[in-house]
Amino acid sequence: MKKNGNGALIDLRDVVKTYETGAGDVTVLKDITLRVQPGEFVSVVGPSGSGKSTLLNMITGIDQPTSGEVHVGHEAVHTLSQNQLARWRGRNVGVVFQFFQLLPTLTILENVVLPMDFCSMYRRRERRERAMHLLEQVGIAEHAHKLPSALSGGEQQRAAIARALANDPSLVVADEPTGNLDTATANEVFVLFEELVAQGKTLMVVTHDRSLSARTGRVLHLLDGRLHRDQNNGESRSASRGSQMAGVLLQYAQHEAKGMIDERHLA
Ligand code: ADP
Ligand code: MG
Repeated sequence: MKKNGNGALIDLRDVVKTYETGAGDVTVLKDITLRVQPGEFVSVVGPSGSGKSTLLNMITGIDQPTSGEVHVGHEAVHTLSQNQLARWRGRNVGVVFQFFQLLPTLTILENVVLPMDFCSMYRRRERRERAMHLLEQVGIAEHAHKLPSALSGGEQQRAAIARALANDPSLVVADEPTGNLDTATANEVFVLFEELVAQGKTLMVVTHDRSLSARTGRVLHLLDGRLHRDQNNGESRSASRGSQMAGVLLQYAQHEAKGMIDERHLA
């Protein structure tokens, strides 16, 4: 997915979301302005009801803002119709949910093939092979031909992550993906996310687990619908392995250049 003119992959401008309820209007997102660069690993934290899911739903186009703009890549997501949104999301965003949302009557493999069929991505005969590769990548290839109900929670979430990757999206968005998993399994899922970031994907993950959010490069703290704090966990964590390597090479080049200057001094 190509990025915005300003370099951001996600660019929210003054986003407001108001729900009309029987008890009157409730504004659950209040003037959220936010940019996320390609390759960032971002967690979203905040109390229950603070607007975390609503924020993710703005970015995936699952829900639309009352006012403000949502740009993801080159797409002005807030202007798309429902049909356009479904197509755009299917090709550009991988979505992972707390309760996996696998289709219960399809095998794990078929669940992963489905987004490719839906978006007519990859040649028909390549799709199953690609799905199998993805299941290998998340470590559950041996369960490919089982129904979701035969898998543990952690395995189902791995399958859901493989499905999210089906169309090779540059952005993966996950809403409390470890909320229904034990600590060890949650850690394994997070390791998978770290691998995706190392591959250059952009990840945005809602979590209540501080030990997990501490592993992301950036933490967005929501409080009562506002971006209360935008916390940077430091260069080493926010940088992808690729850009870390670029940094090492740059240092190396600087040392070499310094060496050459020293030699000339000696001459
Ligand atoms: P979080 O994910 O941080 O727990 P949500 O984004 O789900 O919070 O919800 C934020 C607030 O918006 C909550 O008070 C919730 O009750 C309200 N809300 C969410 N969806 C709707 C809706 N469709 N209609 C009315 N209120 C809603
Ligand atoms: Mg939520």
